[in-house]
Amino acid sequence: MKVVFLGTSGSMPTPRRGSSGVVVRVGRSVYMFDCGEGTQRQMVRAGVGFRRKTLIFLSHLHGDHVLGLPGLLQSMSLLGRERRLDVYGPAGTVEYVKAFSETLGGPAFPVIIHEVMEPGVVYSGGGLEVVAVRSSHRVESWSYGLFEEPRPGRFHPDKARALGVPEGRLWHRLQHGEPVTVDGRTIQPQEVTDPPRPGRRIVYSGDTRPYPGMVELARGADLLIHEATFTDELQERAEEDGHTTAREAAEVAREAGAKRLALVHISSRYYDPDVLLEEAKQVYEDVFVAEDLMEIEIPLPR
Ligand SMILES: [Zn+2]
Ligand SMILES: [Zn+2]
Repeated sequence: MKVVFLGTSGSMPTPRRGSSGVVVRVGRSVYMFDCGEGTQRQMVRAGVGFRRKTLIFLSHLHGDHVLGLPGLLQSMSLLGRERRLDVYGPAGTVEYVKAFSETLGGPAFPVIIHEVMEPGVVYSGGGLEVVAVRSSHRVESWSYGLFEEPRPGRFHPDKARALGVPEGRLWHRLQHGEPVTVDGRTIQPQEVTDPPRPGRRIVYSGDTRPYPGMVELARGADLLIHEATFTDELQERAEEDGHTTAREAAEVAREAGAKRLALVHISSRYYDPDVLLEEAKQVYEDVFVAEDLMEIEIPLPR
């Protein structure tokens, strides 16, 4: 599981940062969170294929988060994509995609749009689920959590043998959490396996003020990707515009017990992002400012 930051700028692209976009690669599948202008070029640079199983989750319909979609769909068509593409987003997403598809000529492959109506699991498959929570921005906006299913605990063949379970089909059933019966005696899976191991958890805030649901969503996350548009010198501006300061993002990470915090959606005014980093570090140590094309491997918990 690998996270690739495609664009880390807030509101406007800068020489150093493109508009919002993050990709989580799981096996051969691509889970994209927001698709700002320039996303497709960053995908090319990062080597993210255009024909893979792809799901796009849009946080909200502000241009800096969605203007990359028309170009991306067009390139996918040109490259002969046939496989369906799924797009999740707030109310209005259908209309947005329809408008540019009708004007420019629709994509040559099925695009399935899912408007997120209520909080909860919006996608489930491929050994993980994606959960949406309504955030607190100036327009309808969603944060997303990508949660891998727990994996079965380690199986101990020696214990199974000692209990007289023959190798083969019965071992398989025990490994998958089913009890088996041998010579009239029932053996529970926990007698021969360790407890299930938690799956990995990645959370993406989208544009938002800090809000309680975010802390819940990010509880124990391996990586919290949180917007930090401003420093606390611009606290009032952050409140007016529905954004978060670096200090506040760090407070969310600390409260949620997230393992790592990545700051994104950096205002173009900060050429040197160290001011944001220093501010966040006063609250929460394990933080970095994401840069475009930065890649982070999320290891399996031990
Ligand atoms: Zn934005
Ligand atoms: Zn916005």
